[in-house]
Amino acid sequence: MKFSFISLFDDIIKNYFKHSILSKAIKNNLIEIETLNLRDFSQNKHNTVDDTVYGGGNGQLLNVEPLVKSLEKLKNSHIIFLTPAGKTFTQKDAKRLSKKSHITFVCGRYEGFDERAIELMANEVLSIGDYVLTGGELASLSMCDAISRNISEVLSNKALEEESFNEDILEYPSFTKPQVFNEVKIPSILSSGNHKKIEEYRHKVAILKTKYHRVDLYSDYRLRKTDYRKKL
Ligand code: SAM
Repeated sequence: MKFSFISLFDDIIKNYFKHSILSKAIKNNLIEIETLNLRDFSQNKHNTVDDTVYGGGNGQLLNVEPLVKSLEKLKNSHIIFLTPAGKTFTQKDAKRLSKKSHITFVCGRYEGFDERAIELMANEVLSIGDYVLTGGELASLSMCDAISRNISEVLSNKALEEESFNEDILEYPSFTKPQVFNEVKIPSILSSGNHKKIEEYRHKVAILKTKYHRVDLYSDYRLRKTDYRKKL
């Protein structure tokens, strides 16, 4: 799967993929990363890609021409514009987008994009949450990372199955050595060696943990279970 990034700060993007699981995924040809610097598509001799806002207002906006020019040769990819105004990206989107063959992320800066670039070129408009970052690089990297984990062979199937948000529940609590710390012991079942009982216990506490931390997710889980039983 190929990911292209359009950004004014392509070094931020490149550096992220030098480490850990994603660098291994690149080495194993599971993902490919391409970065394009928006400035290379500037349409003027000063190499600028931003200008003041019509009608007045704060700051600068990214011009429509370099954005459209840079995206012209990426038209066959699934183009995602990053903006706080977009739909909030979730694990379900990560799974859905992991089936695409080529995704392009368009990272904003300053006050964002000339709206016409979005209207003309976007297949999708996504946000990572209800807060404002300085640029789209962190947002696109978060999405690319989450999508990549769902690409076949990047992680083992077992690891994916047990991760939070699968089936609308959070991952169960985990512990490592020592068995006792500050008089707090790990649950004894985990060192029993009884794998069936451990699995049942983990499922039960995963549901309790979801109910405690994320009532919204827990309601979705309950609804899904009820719907499923009705169909039987
Ligand atoms: N003026 C814009 C607004 O109020 O909606 C915010 C622009 S922000 C300072 C600059 C760029 O950062 C945006 O164009 C977008 O690409 C990125 N960005 C900021 N917050 C984001 C978020 N929550 N999700 C996705 N991208 C975000």
